Amino acid sequence: MALTTYEEIVNNFSTPTFVLAGPGTGKTYLLADRITRLLRNGVNKEKITVLTYTTDANQNMKETLTDQTGHFKLNFHELPNISTMHSLALTIVQEDPHSVNLLKTDLQVQGNEKIKRLIYRDAALILGLTEESSEEARECKQYGDCNQNPDRERCGICIKYWEIMSKCNRVDFDDQILFACKILEKSPTILKKYQLQAEHLLIDEYQDINTAQFRLIELLSRGKRKGLFVVGDDAQSIYAFRGGDPKFILRFQEDFLGSEIGKLNISRRCHENIMNDAFKVLEKYYTDWYGRPNIQFSVECGDQPYIYHVPSEITEARIVANIAKSAIQEKKDVLILAPKKGFFPLIIKELSKRCLYSDCQVSFLPKRIEIANRFLAWVEGPSNNFLTRLVIEDLINIGLAKVPGANKKKLKSEKSLYKRIEEETEIAKIWELVNKDSNFFNVVQQLEKANTTIVKIRDGLNSLLTAYSDHGEDPGEFAKQLSFVSGIWSDPLKLSQDICDVVRLLDSQIPVITGTVQLRTMRKAKGLQATVVIIVGLENDIIPDPDSNSDVVEQARLFYVSMTRAKESLYLFHSYRRPRGISYGPEWSDKQRSEFLDVLGRKSEWKGFRKNKK
Ligand SMILES: [Zn+2]
Repeated sequence: MALTTYEEIVNNFSTPTFVLAGPGTGKTYLLADRITRLLRNGVNKEKITVLTYTTDANQNMKETLTDQTGHFKLNFHELPNISTMHSLALTIVQEDPHSVNLLKTDLQVQGNEKIKRLIYRDAALILGLTEESSEEARECKQYGDCNQNPDRERCGICIKYWEIMSKCNRVDFDDQILFACKILEKSPTILKKYQLQAEHLLIDEYQDINTAQFRLIELLSRGKRKGLFVVGDDAQSIYAFRGGDPKFILRFQEDFLGSEIGKLNISRRCHENIMNDAFKVLEKYYTDWYGRPNIQFSVECGDQPYIYHVPSEITEARIVANIAKSAIQEKKDVLILAPKKGFFPLIIKELSKRCLYSDCQVSFLPKRIEIANRFLAWVEGPSNNFLTRLVIEDLINIGLAKVPGANKKKLKSEKSLYKRIEEETEIAKIWELVNKDSNFFNVVQQLEKANTTIVKIRDGLNSLLTAYSDHGEDPGEFAKQLSFVSGIWSDPLKLSQDICDVVRLLDSQIPVITGTVQLRTMRKAKGLQATVVIIVGLENDIIPDPDSNSDVVEQARLFYVSMTRAKESLYLFHSYRRPRGISYGPEWSDKQRSEFLDVLGRKSEWKGFRKNKK
């Protein structure tokens, strides 16, 4: 039996409940409403656990509940346990870290993707295996465990990886969930404790969970299944690269027998013309979809999404900035979405010319700044194993100890490839000597049979440290050493360029009353909304990108999520030309518009072309 009305959904306490909640249908409100009703019915807040996917969503939930001008008006001390799935998992790991080879003191989470890849590669090289095999092993993360990965039972690379992580007393982002499950399965006492706290277990964004997260939810709700209440939308599943899988929604009723399903059917964000176009994309590509829901609209209908064909990326940035400017003047908020970061520098430039401010991210800055920042962090904490490992990678990629092959695909000769792998292996093996008394840098210092590369690394790092500790006496020396050792700013012009970029970034972040422009990659669009949404770069080799690690179905869902951020106006751009490096295809001119736009069934409007040309 399905739950047909909102009241039936929010008040269903007799079976596990799944609520299908499309974009802008008020799922945060529903969860907050359920929590408030539980509390008003006298349920102890200690028996309610609410799990969100991101920290933003977590914050948002708390604000919705405690907003004293809002609907629920709870006090902070009344709030139940609201956390992200990962932070709950970490709390569980801290109950018994020894059983997963970690120590309680100074146990920290390692969330850096770059470090994860590097340590996986090191683990493979130590075992005499290849970098490719380390990439395959890394897929174990999507399942939470090698044992759950259909392609590999217990793999040596993961075991070696955990050995290194254990030496550093760090748990990586995904392993928090895996280790929490292991601990719960091993200890009935700890399991009981967390099950009691989760007698009412509310879960947001159920479409994003992976195998390990499902295992955690199953364990926690085993004590009292009818308290399980999850909301999600399989059409918004965009995290396959992290193992997120809409199948968990599609099979909810098999996983939790006797469960009931409800749907939220009132669109409170997007109007009919935007939803209609967005549904067309899903209908064409996402064939496993539940199907177009019967939606009612509580918002006034507006224009159909505009599809603009522009001659070049420069014209695109100008028109985008003009649209943003008039929207901001009308006091409307603006969100600009791009398939990847590379689009933003040009757009930010055009926005600044029009005195518009954007919340552009530090990660949009040139890579050199990131590297400089890393070296600065390292001189302040050379005992940090991961930082040392990262700066050593910088040193062999572009710095003092450069070994060709930072990008292996660009290496022409077999011999240089062999040489590069040999050097990488030497560095990887240093981990074998790292222990509680001797950190990575200590080992580099003390290595007896060091090869030339490692000697260069050692000398470079030592001279940086010396210059840093002497910088009171000779302040210029450290900057000189930094650019020499790291290989950045060997051309002084680049340093001044970087300073300009940083200043521009800081400038663009000054908050103004008239409202700012939000800039995000499409992957980061979830949870956001704006009156005016602009999506750029909609060409066939960019989105869908045939080489992406997510398939065309997931990319179609990504486009769907992006489109449904818009409350009033949606602008979709594709360009005749796109510079290489941003465009993935071999052609940089006469580019085809995205097949996702074709599905909308309308021609593009020509914008910014000279009159005599077509
Ligand atoms: Zn594995």
